[in-house]
Amino acid sequence: MAHCDYCGTTILFGGVKDHGHRFCNEECQQGAVLLAVSEQIPDKVMADHVNAVHQGDCPRCGGPGPVDVHTSHTVWSMLVMTSWHSKPQMCCRSCGTKTQLKGALISGVAGWWGFPWGLIMTPVQIGKNLVGIFSGPDSSEPSAELTKIVSLSLAAHAIRGD
Ligand SMILES: [Zn+2]
Ligand SMILES: [Zn+2]
Repeated sequence: MAHCDYCGTTILFGGVKDHGHRFCNEECQQGAVLLAVSEQIPDKVMADHVNAVHQGDCPRCGGPGPVDVHTSHTVWSMLVMTSWHSKPQMCCRSCGTKTQLKGALISGVAGWWGFPWGLIMTPVQIGKNLVGIFSGPDSSEPSAELTKIVSLSLAAHAIRGD
């Protein structure tokens, strides 16, 4: 069974082939390019950038940091159709809590109305929001997710040359 070289998802059929690598789609292929570039950036430069973002002001509300990745989870259903997703965002703790509360609320209202996935995914998504609200990333240091997002955006800048 083939796996995506970027995100590790099992590829059942299709996918993108590139010099002996397999990816789910072009997004993962581009992700892999960014990852390769980001590995060329010296650790010190990377750590300085990650710390600057972590200690900087919140890009959402402009309030004081620490800034980290807060993921909100939503689900909605309509009869036999249920759709759920998770959205990571770079923001301060209070913005993170707000989007997670909103995610839990939307899921609680709109999630249940599908069978069977609405009944299964609604408590899962609400639970994930609650975990985010009550535990969340450690505020004393940048999380692995923040490091990853910052390093990929640095790589994107390096490729564009700005
Ligand atoms: Zn992939
Ligand atoms: Zn904020």
